[in-house]
Amino acid sequence: MEKILECCPVCRAKVRGDRTCARCGAELGLLIQVGEMAASLERAAVQALVAGDLDEAESALVQAARLRVSPFGQALLAFVAELRRQPVHYDPERAAEAGQATPGKLAGIKKFFTRFTGKRGDKT
Ligand SMILES: [Zn+2]
Repeated sequence: MEKILECCPVCRAKVRGDRTCARCGAELGLLIQVGEMAASLERAAVQALVAGDLDEAESALVQAARLRVSPFGQALLAFVAELRRQPVHYDPERAAEAGQATPGKLAGIKKFFTRFTGKRGDKT
């Protein structure tokens, strides 16, 4: 999972997940909470995109950006804007019927790639 807060906004010390800064003692709990809310909204936006609901995705991303601007959120917003310019009309059910993205096919593709990644990881 992505790290919500990289460093203390007061003294720039690395944050190790504590709710107070280990160096200067600044209270970080609220900042972390707001960051988690933004990350949760970004995940909701991804789910809305998967469901093909651009309005819902955009609304969640705008809300997330009000809390915290992240490269991921900004990329998703740009993606939504691009989809609005060039609608793809992606319909998961129709794609499955056309044999484009069935779970079985995806599993087959993953299996194909693990042949390579599996062997590379082995040292014996
Ligand atoms: Zn600090």
